[in-house]
Amino acid sequence: MPDALSTTTPSHAHEQTNAEVLLWQGKVRAGFAALAGAVGLILHLTSTVTHSPRVGLLTLLSYLVVNLWLGRSARRRGAARDWMVAVTRASDVLFMLAIAYLLMPPQHYDRVWLGGFAILHLTEFYFGRRLAWMVLGGLVAGYLGLVSNAIANGAVLSWTSELGTAAVFTVAAVTFIVHYSNFNWRLNEIVSLFERAEGGDFSGEYDAAADKRPDSVTLVGRAYNRVRPQLANLVMTDALSGCQNRRGLEQQLAREVSRAARTGRELALIAIDVDHFKTINDTFGHLAGDAVIQEVGELLRSVARTGDVVARTGGDEFMLLLPETNAAGAFRLATRTREEVSKRRFQGISGKVPVTVSIGLVADRVADENVVHDLHSRADEALYAAKDGGRNRVSIWTPNLRAIAVQRAGQALMRTGT
Ligand code: GH3
Ligand code: MG
Repeated sequence: MPDALSTTTPSHAHEQTNAEVLLWQGKVRAGFAALAGAVGLILHLTSTVTHSPRVGLLTLLSYLVVNLWLGRSARRRGAARDWMVAVTRASDVLFMLAIAYLLMPPQHYDRVWLGGFAILHLTEFYFGRRLAWMVLGGLVAGYLGLVSNAIANGAVLSWTSELGTAAVFTVAAVTFIVHYSNFNWRLNEIVSLFERAEGGDFSGEYDAAADKRPDSVTLVGRAYNRVRPQLANLVMTDALSGCQNRRGLEQQLAREVSRAARTGRELALIAIDVDHFKTINDTFGHLAGDAVIQEVGELLRSVARTGDVVARTGGDEFMLLLPETNAAGAFRLATRTREEVSKRRFQGISGKVPVTVSIGLVADRVADENVVHDLHSRADEALYAAKDGGRNRVSIWTPNLRAIAVQRAGQALMRTGT
């Protein structure tokens, strides 16, 4: 299982988050160090502790200096590397063990577990599992070192009891770390689903069935799964025509291209543009033009087969994506579309003028997934050829289509003498 937030967030964002946490935790550390210093001073003045105050002062200053230095570095760079975080965690564990050693009688050493749990919690919560394991290892090793030193110096401590406490703490800590990192990991799954949705990809679903013991994360995952189709619909649909929008087409195109590349099947892309649409707008008004776009969208959806994708890609431009379709099949559909449009009496303009479309199509076997851009531009090239050839027609892309178009344009220029 990946380690908490660090694995799914891009590394720079992860280091930025590290820096933010180090900075606010730096204040908590400074407060804690000041409190420990004050308690140490009181205990020293009341002669409750026997250790040299110089050692205590040195420990306190080292802790503050390390953390000040790391905090400044994080602030300056706006980022904190993982090793910087690891050093702060190590310094926390060492400082707490030092407080126990300098300020507490050995029979109270077990309070280290309470402070240790606070460090463990803050580590797991903000920095993930890997560092939490490190803190746990440091705590157990450090504590046993403290006890061993105390026993060697004549303290009345029982190894059985101390090892028992260490074992109970370890079991509790392991449960916490495993449980919490699973929680974090699943939360991250949901974050990445939202990130994909941000980029218009709604294909991912939260695997709620994998949560054997459903909890609050499962509820968020289920809620995402419920709104996913509605969001996808909103983001991928063109409101006026009811067809997919450009984003929707691009996604489906990428998906179909990779499927066609895998299966070696053909794929067709048809570009459709309403002829002289500006005239319709100018003559009947923009609203009437809108109604024509809406009706063209409806008509295209009615001629398309299940599995075909119909999209409005611009003002009066549409595209049809036909999976597993060769040039002959695509040409038949394009011709039928063209005929249906020219026959139709469009309500938006009360059937006063005929509406026609020009169509360009490309159909090919897909060798690899990098042809998406080529397919687009070839369908457009074929569309320009259809416009160039007099509109209200279907043109199929061939490798020499551009040459023909250039030749025609040259001839037209010569005819007009410009
Ligand atoms: P051509 O035959 O060369 O395609 O000529 P055209 O007049 O159709 O030219 P073009 O396709 O470039 O014109 C598209 C026009 O569509 C331009 C713009 O004013 C209009 N348009 C773009 N979006 C909308 C829309 O949402 N509603 C309406 N009513 N008009 C739109
Ligand atoms: Mg047009």
